[in-house]
Amino acid sequence: MPKSSSKSQAASKSADSVNNSTRKSPGGKSASVVEAFELTAAANGNVLSPRLFYETVQQSPLAISITDSRADILYVNPAFENLTGYSSDEVLGENESILSHKQTPLEVYKALWSTIQGGETWRGTLVNRRRNGEPYLADLNISPVFDSQGSVNYFLGIHRDITEVHALEQQVQHQKTLIESMLDAAPVVVALIDAERKVLVDNQAYKKLMGDLHGLEPAALFLEVLEKDGFDLATALAEHRSFSEVEVRLDIAGRTEPRWYSVSGTWVSELDSTVASYFGNGGEPRCCLLLVASEVTALRQQMERAKLQHLRASLAEQERVQGMREALSGAIFQLQTPVNIIQAAVGMLDRGADSNKLREVLDQVLLSGQQAMDTLRGALPEETRESQASVNLNTLLQDVLSLQTDAFLAGGVVIDWQPQTVLPSITGRPNQLRSMLMRLVENALMAVAETDRPQRVLRVATVSHDDCVDVLIQDNGPGIPDHLRLKVFEPFYSNWKQPRGRAGMGLSLAQETVNEHGGVIAINPDCNEGCQVRLTFPVRSAATSYDEGMY
Ligand code: FAD
Repeated sequence: MPKSSSKSQAASKSADSVNNSTRKSPGGKSASVVEAFELTAAANGNVLSPRLFYETVQQSPLAISITDSRADILYVNPAFENLTGYSSDEVLGENESILSHKQTPLEVYKALWSTIQGGETWRGTLVNRRRNGEPYLADLNISPVFDSQGSVNYFLGIHRDITEVHALEQQVQHQKTLIESMLDAAPVVVALIDAERKVLVDNQAYKKLMGDLHGLEPAALFLEVLEKDGFDLATALAEHRSFSEVEVRLDIAGRTEPRWYSVSGTWVSELDSTVASYFGNGGEPRCCLLLVASEVTALRQQMERAKLQHLRASLAEQERVQGMREALSGAIFQLQTPVNIIQAAVGMLDRGADSNKLREVLDQVLLSGQQAMDTLRGALPEETRESQASVNLNTLLQDVLSLQTDAFLAGGVVIDWQPQTVLPSITGRPNQLRSMLMRLVENALMAVAETDRPQRVLRVATVSHDDCVDVLIQDNGPGIPDHLRLKVFEPFYSNWKQPRGRAGMGLSLAQETVNEHGGVIAINPDCNEGCQVRLTFPVRSAATSYDEGMY
């Protein structure tokens, strides 16, 4: 059929439908839209005129069209004109396909047609195109309109533009996907649980942990452990009390080592999407607990190892002290005999004893003296050789300063710590070096205690130069006079006013350690305040001083 004749036929059909509208349909079904208006008006005591119904449709903000059974347009309202950009004259007699952007899949149209031809209402979304070619998303309702015999001659289409709503939905969906990806990528276990302990949201790490726990709910386990420690979920919920970094231990079947988690909980209000809350009067929002748990097993194991190591070290120290006490008690006991005999010899001399007798007694002294020496040598503990490692002297000094913090505070000593920011490592025995540095710092502490300066200062610095690393330990104590600068390194030399059990072996042993590391120790002769001990270590020490294969 030519378009123009179809158009004029459609226009006259449309006018007929509006004006010719007094027939009653069986079973309550409309003969046409206007007929339907009339029926309703009649049913209501004819208070409302068909014109009113017509004007209602005309003025509806929704785009309304009425078509024949092939979807050729018979009527469109002004909202349709506004939305599509087509005037009524342009579309009357045209098929609704004029609005198609040709991107809606064929299956959708097939479903649309089979629904409306089956007498049902179809609702869906189509990609439409305005007169100016601009695409938009149409949320469309198509309802068949039955005539008095119950057959369908017309379709009623109502649609609205949902492009913006769809864009917003997409944005929300995108943000949701983004948040979910972020949650999944986070190396922490995350779960949102409600007051009934039901997990509402979780992430991949949570699911993985659940797998490791053979299907047990990690959130429930965390709460169980927290509750054993006095955490009360109900009270915490009532008071919106959050908690942070509580350590939780999980013993997992089949694993010898426990797993440790640092768990934090924050209360969050869940968005109320019920109809009742639309105007913000939906009552108290539901509260959920956001549980975040990061695994700290490695850290915990490291701490356990360090604790054990510390325990071992202090046990070894106790044993060492005990051994020394035993050896020295033995030495005192052993030396007592020769001393007694010498005393007897002196008495004999006083009494004018002959030289043979005296000789006999001196022989006994010699023998018991030799025996005492042998016993003492036998009691000397064997030196344990620590293996070599790459050592950063800043780290060792930091350890020593930390260990001595209490002593500094007690002695009112100010520490001036000047490490070189990036210090080359040396090769050496870390424990041996640490003990040596400890002794030197203890010396400095003793030195500052022997002066009445108002401010006691300990300066510790490291500096590297010419493939060497220097450690400088300086106190503002009485200092060491020039003539004693070498003597202080002799074994058993001590010049403390208050020796406090120090036998004068500290600097001698320090020299031994430094030499073993291919280094040099000296008292700085140019130091004009207190005493400065300078230790110089080669960054690459002489190969002869080191165990094989250390580099
Ligand atoms: P076509 O080849 O015309 O149709 C595609 C498929 O649709 C066919 O293969 C067939 O399965 C089915 N089909 C088409 N016409 C008929 C028919 N007369 N009987 C049975 N099956 C049929 N389309 C839009 O794109 N946007 C709209 O806003 C829109 N509004 C409509 C409003 C009403 C009241 C009605 C009744 C239809 C509406 N349509 C709308 C559908 C429209 O009429 C077309 O069917 C559709 O646009 C596809 O047209 P086409 O030319 O791309 O493909």
